[in-house]
Amino acid sequence: MDNGNRVPVVARAWEAAKRHIPFGVNSNYRLVDPYPLYVRKARGSKLWDVDGNEYVDFNMAFGALVAGHSHPVLARAMRDRVSNGTIFGYESVDAGRLADHLCGRFHMDRLKFSMTGLDATLFAVRLARAVTGRRRILKFEGCYHGSHDSLMVSIKPRKELSGDPKHPNVVPSSKGLLKELVETAIVAPFNDIDATESLALMHRDDVAGIILEPVPMNMGYVQPEPGFLEGVRAVADEVGAILIFDEVKTCGKWYGGAEEAFHVTPDVKVLGKAIGGGFPLAAVGGKASILDQVIPGQISHAGTFNANPLSISAGLVTLTKILTRAGVRHAQRMGNDLAKGYTDVIADHRLPMKVQAGGISGTVHFARSIVRDWRSFEEVDVGRWWGYYTAMLNRGVIPMATGADEQWTTSVAHTHADVARHLGAFEEVAEGMKQKQADMSIVEAI
Ligand code: PLP
Repeated sequence: MDNGNRVPVVARAWEAAKRHIPFGVNSNYRLVDPYPLYVRKARGSKLWDVDGNEYVDFNMAFGALVAGHSHPVLARAMRDRVSNGTIFGYESVDAGRLADHLCGRFHMDRLKFSMTGLDATLFAVRLARAVTGRRRILKFEGCYHGSHDSLMVSIKPRKELSGDPKHPNVVPSSKGLLKELVETAIVAPFNDIDATESLALMHRDDVAGIILEPVPMNMGYVQPEPGFLEGVRAVADEVGAILIFDEVKTCGKWYGGAEEAFHVTPDVKVLGKAIGGGFPLAAVGGKASILDQVIPGQISHAGTFNANPLSISAGLVTLTKILTRAGVRHAQRMGNDLAKGYTDVIADHRLPMKVQAGGISGTVHFARSIVRDWRSFEEVDVGRWWGYYTAMLNRGVIPMATGADEQWTTSVAHTHADVARHLGAFEEVAEGMKQKQADMSIVEAI
């Protein structure tokens, strides 16, 4: 169907969804202007909406699809799996094999499977509290760890509520959270080890865990500054807290996850998204001394769908046949080319934008300075980002996941042609921004 017919059909799909689903979306992050995207089909690096419009996809389900959409090897294996049982209510025979692979690849002694990043970080927090007998969890301002109550604070705190940058207020991110639970959180500024240490020391006998993404990917793509991750490791040891790396996103960016890139070892890792190749699969793993305390009757870990055969088979095929070292290297190369292309176009058009990227993922910020924490993210011009995003969609390119705080993901399915199509569209959009907005002083003076 041609582009002229697109809007009414999408609009009808939205109206139909809204009849019984508030706002017509099942994750609030999918609600965008003027309509949420309603998708009919996806394969490889492409996705087709309800009207049949084709997009080259660099959202890749918020980083869950480093294996690409419906990789043929995975699709074949899953057809066989579906015909032989989808859930047993008992353990599936391959769970041990997948655990062996994950523990070897991500340097962990033990793990427990979950379904989503949400339920895995929830369990990691419970584990830290159970093992230490303490209450408080230290998290970082601007970081997201899934939609559950203990960590739903200071995810995107408004400026007027967030307080002293070195001692941020704990700001609830939703209505409906118990004040008593919110008060157990400690919020620290990312990339500020002195402030982090002083906040941890203030509550030194009550900090159960410190949780962070080694590269925060809910403020774009924030590089940990040299020594920061090592510093957080030392602070956790100093106060006797469990250090949790939330690798729900980062585990898919390097073959061995963030430890391979930064050489810092936490006590507990949370894996998710990319390991399932598009099926729901997550895991909480780490040191035997901690995970072996998950004794039935003492620390609860449960879930009807945990380690179901569909997710286990998908994980095994994805990790051993698709996201091999060579597969991950290919995706990284595509990402590096994309980031370089963005940097060149921005320089050519002298636009005050910053590319922050590394391998498979990266982002472009409408800001004059690098984003290094939540307070610097607040300087990003989110309105201009939406203009860019919409202009890219109109050219058949989903440039990244939805939101100025998100990033692009390249996969084993992306090709040089996909990257060229993305950069070609960006070149046009950048040209338009330069022309239209020169008088609004977005173009830097030479
Ligand atoms: N942790 C991080 C760092 C995430 O980015 C997300 C989701 O985007 C989650 C946890 C929650 O994962 P899920 O959406 O699978 O529940």
